[in-house]
Amino acid sequence: MGRRPKIQKETLPPPSKKGGTRNKMPQLLRGFKDILPSEQTYWQMMMSKALKLAQDYGFQKIDTPLLEETSLFLRSVGKETDIVQKEMYAFTDKGGDDICLRPEGTASVIRAYLEHGMIAWPQPVKLFYWGPMFRYSRPQSGRYRQFYQLGFEILGESEPVLDSQLVLLAYNFFKGLEIEIEIQINSVGCPLCRPAYQRSLINYFKPKKRLLCPTCLERLSKNPLRILDCSEASCEELKDGAPQIIDWLCEECKNHFIKVLEFLDELELPYDLNPLLVRGLDYYTKTAFEIWPIFKEDQAGLTSQSALAGGGRYDGLAQLLGQKTIPASGFSIGIERTILKVKEKEKEGKFDMDAWEERRPDVFIAQLGEAAKRKALNLFESFREHNILTSECFSKNSLKSQLEQASKIGAKYTFILGQKEILDGTILLREMEGGVQEIIDYEKAISEIKKRLEMNH
Ligand code: AMP
Repeated sequence: MGRRPKIQKETLPPPSKKGGTRNKMPQLLRGFKDILPSEQTYWQMMMSKALKLAQDYGFQKIDTPLLEETSLFLRSVGKETDIVQKEMYAFTDKGGDDICLRPEGTASVIRAYLEHGMIAWPQPVKLFYWGPMFRYSRPQSGRYRQFYQLGFEILGESEPVLDSQLVLLAYNFFKGLEIEIEIQINSVGCPLCRPAYQRSLINYFKPKKRLLCPTCLERLSKNPLRILDCSEASCEELKDGAPQIIDWLCEECKNHFIKVLEFLDELELPYDLNPLLVRGLDYYTKTAFEIWPIFKEDQAGLTSQSALAGGGRYDGLAQLLGQKTIPASGFSIGIERTILKVKEKEKEGKFDMDAWEERRPDVFIAQLGEAAKRKALNLFESFREHNILTSECFSKNSLKSQLEQASKIGAKYTFILGQKEILDGTILLREMEGGVQEIIDYEKAISEIKKRLEMNH
């Protein structure tokens, strides 16, 4: 083996301003989460629901890197958005490239679509993704700095029916989890009709600008649509009388929106028209929608500002990246927020997680003595090859503590191998519930346990 290279002092990053913590145990970063084993069942369930829906609706999985060129998001999400202005983990790498941790998935998907020539595939291309996103925002319940999104994107097609089908897909995802939701929908127009609407918003807010919060005051000149998103009390009041985009849509956007709603009506999906829904990102055109949980007065947990999913049409995104127009539509679901909701439903007795529990080991192997340990090691392998879910605790030598472990994990049967059994070519089979033990031929251990577990092969 070669010698490990020494880390050169000058290659280490300079100490942070928060220095002086050399002896402190490094801790989880604020806004980040470990997903512990006890949580994994929820995550596996979400993933399995996602895979099922993707299969049902014909979506193929795509994984894109966590790191991208910063310019991808500057150009797509938009320079004046909160994500780009305040929330990106952006830095210059050792090679001098400006890169960032992805704050969202859609821009990466369209980059991949363009880069891999998916434009030549049969259209539309339907892709889904699952993975962590990073935004440096103030952590709170349901808002993290690293969070997972599940996203569905339909690329290369402009038909309104696809927007409606995406809303349906989102609706079905939450329905499958027994989460009561509300669909909010709007149209944000297109580069043809939106500028005139933006001007009308500026004209409306300008005389009232003393009443706007400091952030919205800045938005007034840079991104007036975002004022409609603001939840500050003073801005909230002003929004009520603001012009509505629906009155400013061009013929094409208006017809598109009407068709989307007609399809939703056809599907009998309940929705709320929300003229204030603008979504925070520059790339949206026409349809914009969000999925909100229905709140009950007594529910803590998520704040009233927490949408579970959001998306819409983004026909102009490819063009923002300097390519020709690629019509596309999509949405993403926040996994952590959805899991918080699933847990609420569980507490209310409306969702049964037990159906999703991981398979528990049916069998435990306990051993006493060195020779038994060697044999048990092999027996464990044979069980595994026969697909018998088995657990063990080879590091323990006391039978009592091994049986305790077997009970703790809920094994139905425990095989016990000791010195005597090794000599006799037998093994003890203990039924954990009643504590009944019998001696069986060691060679018959597999066939016997299969019979008891009613395994066919
Ligand atoms: P967005 O595109 O920003 O609307 O995000 C889509 C979904 O991702 C939201 O509806 C949330 O469920 C989830 N999400 C967005 N930001 C965060 C965050 N900081 N922490 C947790 N979930 C988030």
